[in-house]
Amino acid sequence: HETVYAIASGKGGVGKTTTTVNLGTALAQAGERVAIVDTDLGMANLAGFVSLTPDSMTLHDVLSGAASIDDAIYSVTENIVAVPSGTSLDEYADTSPEGLREVVSELRDRFDYVFLDVGAGVNHETVLPLGLADSVILVSTPEPAAVHDSKKTLELTERAGGTVAGLVVTRTLPDSDISHEEIATRLETDLLGTIPEDAAARESVYAGTPLIVYEPNGPAATAYRQLAADLAGID
Ligand code: ADP
Ligand code: MG
Repeated sequence: HETVYAIASGKGGVGKTTTTVNLGTALAQAGERVAIVDTDLGMANLAGFVSLTPDSMTLHDVLSGAASIDDAIYSVTENIVAVPSGTSLDEYADTSPEGLREVVSELRDRFDYVFLDVGAGVNHETVLPLGLADSVILVSTPEPAAVHDSKKTLELTERAGGTVAGLVVTRTLPDSDISHEEIATRLETDLLGTIPEDAAARESVYAGTPLIVYEPNGPAATAYRQLAADLAGID
């Protein structure tokens, strides 16, 4: 299997952070050593998904040269660590994304899986991780606007020298007018999985607990475990 995955989308709010946290947690539960990294430098929020309050350094401090990567690695639960980002605009202003190369290379040597939670949109810090990852997982809801923006992320990945593994369609509804296979086909990529709309996803964020721990037998949690098993080639 690949080690470093970037979880990316064009549009924001489609479920990238949810996907990062739950794929990571599912693989950690399966005994893999996992790092989840908040590379959404402008709108960092991964830490809250796992009730982590960084007491000292964050990825921003590493990227500004004020800290080493070890200072920004926080244990979450067994087998899983998080590298949070700072949440203030001042911290963001001091950051240069170039240092991500070194960070990714360090983490690659230490973990079985590294998931980079990439920011939405098109700028240097979103494009860089697409090229640093072994594989990019595109995340989109079935909405046409989100699908359209995923196409751009796919093209950006190719320009950055990266490889797209395929598409995860999130927040799917039973009575969808377009098939999820068809969405992937339009993007000329593979459909890796679908995650149904599930109120527990939102509730789990408020609880600061990964969905697959918060409600392990719900529809979205079940779908995330399946996706993780497919990625890791386990069942
Ligand atoms: P992104 O990182 O792409 O901005 P998030 O993972 O933060 O997206 O998700 C955006 C919002 O959608 C959050 O409130 C989250 O709880 C909710 N959400 C994500 N996946 C689902 C789902 N399968 N069902 C219902 N709500 C979801
Ligand atoms: Mg996010």
